[in-house]
This record gives sequence, structure tokens and C-alpha cells, in this order.
Amino acid sequence: MDRGQTMTTLFTNRSSFHTWRKSIPEHRTVGFVPTMGALHAGHVSLIEQAKAECDVVVVSIYVNALQFNSETDFTRYPRTEETDFHICTLANVDAVFAPLKSDVFPEDVVELLTPSKNAQGYEGADRPGHFAGVVTVVDRLFNLVQPSVAYFGLKDYQQVAVINDMASQLHPNIVISPCITMRENDGLAMSSRNRFLTPSGRKSATALPSALGKAVSSWNTGVTQSKELIDQVIADLSKEPSIDIQYISVVRNGSMEPVQAISENDVIIAAIVVDGVRLIDNMSFTNA
Ligand code: AMP
Repeated sequence: MDRGQTMTTLFTNRSSFHTWRKSIPEHRTVGFVPTMGALHAGHVSLIEQAKAECDVVVVSIYVNALQFNSETDFTRYPRTEETDFHICTLANVDAVFAPLKSDVFPEDVVELLTPSKNAQGYEGADRPGHFAGVVTVVDRLFNLVQPSVAYFGLKDYQQVAVINDMASQLHPNIVISPCITMRENDGLAMSSRNRFLTPSGRKSATALPSALGKAVSSWNTGVTQSKELIDQVIADLSKEPSIDIQYISVVRNGSMEPVQAISENDVIIAAIVVDGVRLIDNMSFTNA
């Protein structure tokens, strides 16, 4: 074994994980990266941040049926357990927690948590019940893992806002650490769903980061009204006939509150459907 390499242990049930978790001395910080598997470089960037900041790193892999809007979407969600474990090994993760549904939700009927107001609109409107499923599972995982810091990708901007609200209410001792979006070379935000795009859809999808990037550049040249920039993004995306726009909005940093006159760190958020694949992305208005 190389110097500095960690042995990664796979836990597939709640009790073995619990025993391991209890063995971690209290003064050691535990970094937690919750995932649904199908790991890619975006997930790895979260793991690397956790490794850099915490003594022990736990990655969970759990495809949470509660946050899917259709059975088909849940069933076809990619499951690549062996590769995922290998990726975690290479990233020196200490523990991979891949529980069964009965470990996370032992009860017959699951009572869903109600997400905060930030869950309304956008993803919350297009995917009814999605954020209730997200906060319910993340709360359960937080109880099981008891992390010091939990890492979430800003690619899922609204999810970060909703989880921040849930954590400040139910888990005030857990620090929520938002992490930057990892992108492919052509700008497309990495996502487990990108594999469902046809080659032509994959090409069209790059119009999204490109249009959002152009909006940020325009803001840098002095265009400050969100309406003007949103219209510009719509015009750019409309050049790709295969793109179906779900929403485009500018919100205040850290919240879902729409803004008219854009200030630094406000965020342009968007969702599109290409080839039947729903993609989301966002960018911050930062000075060039
Ligand atoms: P998922 O497995 O899709 O639930 O994602 C697990 C975590 O990885 C979430 O916090 C996501 O926001 C984050 N994530 C997904 N894609 C990316 C990306 N391209 N860059 C950074 N983080 C990401």
C-alpha cells in the first residue's frame, strides 16, 4: 500500500456501519458526501474537498426512490456499484455506506419531512414531492452518519438552499459545505444523467452553459436587468430546436428569491429538456 493510502471499507447495512461509526473518536471530524452513485468527477471533487478538510470521509450511495417523480425514472437511474466503490477507493474514502431501503427507512410507512419555502418553484414545481424526498433522506442519512461537515454540489443550487434550511433547523451542528460545479471540457455540467443524451442531444446541451456564460459576460459589460439577460438566454437556447426550456430565472445568492436588478453573486438558474433528458445548470454573476 502506498504511503498515505486509506483502506476503504464498504458497509452495506446500518448495524455494521453504526459499529464502525461508534469507533471513530469524538475529536475526529467526519466529512460526508451523500450520493446516488454513478459517480463521476463532480462527486470526486466533493470527496476531495472532504478529504482535504476532515479526518475521516464517508460517502453514501443510495438511490432514493422518494425523490423521483416517476417509477421509470427511478428504475432507469444508473447503478454502477462496483465502479463507484473503485472510484471511492482511488479517492481514499474511509467508508462507503451503501444501505438498503430497510436500513434507511425501517418503517412501513415513511412520514415525509416538509421542505422549506425555498423548495417552492423551479425544481420544486416541475418535480412535485422531489424536495420532500430529498430532505427526508438527507435527514435520515445525517442521523446515521453524524457528520461534522456535509458536502453538496452547487450544481443542484436549489437543493443546497433547501438542505441548508433543513440542516439549520434539525442538524444545527452539521456544517453544510457547498462545492463548485465540475464541468466537461465543453462546459456541460457533469451529471449522471448526461449518459442518456444521444450524441446530437449531447452537442445541443452545451448551448445551456454557453448561454448562461454569455449572460454572466453581459452582466460584466453593464447589463444589470435580469429580464434582459433572461431574454438573451431564451434567444440563445431557442437556436437549438431540440431544447425545451423549463425555466430560467435570476435569484439572490443562497436563496430562491427572484431579483430584477442583478448584484454580484446573484445566480442565474435554468432547466431544460433535451432528448427527454432533464438538465439543470446555474452560474453566479461574478466580476470577470
Ligand atoms: P447525486 O448523486 O446526483 O445525488 O449527487 C451527489 C452530490 O454530487 C450532490 O451534492 C450533487 O450536487 C453533487 N454533484 C453532482 N454533479 C456535480 C457536478 N457536476 N459538480 C459538483 N458536484 C456535483
